[in-house]
Amino acid sequence: MANDSTTSWREQVSLAAYVAVIVSLALLAITPAVMLQRLTSVVQDNDQIYEPASLLERELTFQYERKIAELRALLVSSDRRYFDSYRDARAAEAVILGRLEPLVQQISPVAVQRLALVRRVAAEWHVWDDSLAAEAIALDDYEATRLARQRILEDSTFASTARLRAEIDLQSDAAIEVSAAEFRRQRLLALGLGAIALLAALAVGWFAWRQRSLTGQLQWALSEESRLRAAERTAREQVTMILESITDAFFAVDRAWVITYVNSEAERLLHRRREQLVGRHLWDEFAPAVGTPFQGEYERAMAEQQAVEFEEYYAPLAIWVDVRAFPTAQGLSVFFRDITRRKQLQEERERLLVSEREARAEAVRRRDELERVTESRTRLMRGFSHDLKNPLGAADGYAQLLEEGIMGDISPKQKESVGRIRISIQTALRLIHDLLELARAEAGQIELVPTLADAAELARGSAEDFRAQAAAAGLELEVRASGPVEVRTDVTRVRQILSNLLSNAVKYTPSGRITVETEARSKQDDQADHPWVSIAVSDSGPGIPAEKREAIFQEFTRLDPDAPHGAGVGLAISRRIARLLGGDIVVDSDLGRGSTFTLWLPAGVAE
Ligand code: ADP
Repeated sequence: MANDSTTSWREQVSLAAYVAVIVSLALLAITPAVMLQRLTSVVQDNDQIYEPASLLERELTFQYERKIAELRALLVSSDRRYFDSYRDARAAEAVILGRLEPLVQQISPVAVQRLALVRRVAAEWHVWDDSLAAEAIALDDYEATRLARQRILEDSTFASTARLRAEIDLQSDAAIEVSAAEFRRQRLLALGLGAIALLAALAVGWFAWRQRSLTGQLQWALSEESRLRAAERTAREQVTMILESITDAFFAVDRAWVITYVNSEAERLLHRRREQLVGRHLWDEFAPAVGTPFQGEYERAMAEQQAVEFEEYYAPLAIWVDVRAFPTAQGLSVFFRDITRRKQLQEERERLLVSEREARAEAVRRRDELERVTESRTRLMRGFSHDLKNPLGAADGYAQLLEEGIMGDISPKQKESVGRIRISIQTALRLIHDLLELARAEAGQIELVPTLADAAELARGSAEDFRAQAAAAGLELEVRASGPVEVRTDVTRVRQILSNLLSNAVKYTPSGRITVETEARSKQDDQADHPWVSIAVSDSGPGIPAEKREAIFQEFTRLDPDAPHGAGVGLAISRRIARLLGGDIVVDSDLGRGSTFTLWLPAGVAE
């Protein structure tokens, strides 16, 4: 309002300034013309009225003086010729008066009166003179009776003409004075108008300058406004682009819960197109959410002007959503994402955790059970072995007495039978011994005595124990070692393992050769933690099928169950002892060509 009134005030003042400039310039343009017209009329009046009137008055006076002169000449000389001059003067007087009459009428009523007086006085003055000129009066009569009176009338006439002249001069001067005053007034007016025009022009200039600066400001404001509009448009587009490119679903509502925006991810999750949602009431469109935490949380966010965050299940769409709602100036902005998969995984994980806990408890239970069983088996086997070993040992003793004939002579056939009994008893004793070893190894009850030894020497010693056996079986036995290979281990146990491996090699190799090779290695297979020593026993036997290579390390597992030798526990015991020594036994085999059993021992101190 204030601005409007200021603007209209300015407009009115600037209009007034324009009008003032135009009017004063117009008046300024008129003023010289008016002045010129006034001046012209004064000059004209002077030329056509005052100047001729003044001249005529002087001529009249001259004619009166001429009349007097002619008459006096007549009186002095009595020459009648002067009568003609007198009449000429009178005729001239009549002409002059005729011309003067219209002029004095234009001068003033006083001048008219004064000319009338001149006529009257002159007429009276002329009566006697004319009579004399008409010779109605004798010269002598005239001089004697009339001269004195004529003199008085003559003076009156001149006085009248003088007064007429004074009136003409007065009016002439007055006219000049009036025009001079008018001229001064016009000059003052011109000056005033000039000043007004100047002031108005200054005002117009100031307004024009104001106008220009205001126009400039307006243009700047307009361009600024359009720039801001463009910036706002760009910002809006960027926001839309961001809202469309974010992975979260997004929608916005105003304070009346009317949906104002829905991004494409929200369209996808809600299975609704934005055209179906924008402009609609949120709780009409999602009626099932009324009364649920969705409504409660959104209303809380709006009422407390505070962001809220929650996870909730939306039954109509069968999805879990993670929601974050932020109050805005316009209403509420809601971001949400589908966390159904995460929830499922979480539930799955929790389920797995429970079953893992259960499995672990079960494993602990089983391990305890196993330990218990193992221990009782060990105890049982130990007692059982003891109980078997003693009677078997006694039986063997008696069989030996029989075999050697100490209990009396026996026939060669009986001796052979006793021999077989003894072999069976010893096989049974070996088996009992092996089972006892296995039980001990399983229970970790094998006592180790580590000493520093040369592994190559150990291997050679063990091989030599089997040289005779190998030779008897027609097998070649070769021992290879690059030099002394130091190892700190339980020598007896290593020998026990090597004996088992060599015994197997001899047992299961029908022909060919057996090689024992000792090496110091930087790594055990692929593991590279510390130096290792390997003792490999290779044979040219039948080999072991790949699928059986691990099974043969299980107790009582044999490739050929009908084979006469062995009970299938040797490798099981050997691996357990090797592992107790900090190493292991692995097998590599080429089916039909042979097998290599390698004992790995750590090169350091065996614990
Ligand atoms: P066993 O007393 O039966 O020899 P082991 O535990 O020493 O018991 O060996 C288990 C089985 O592994 C043997 O029965 C045999 O079938 C197989 N085996 C062991 N060593 C060899 C080898 N050098 N060549 C072929 N088969 C072998």
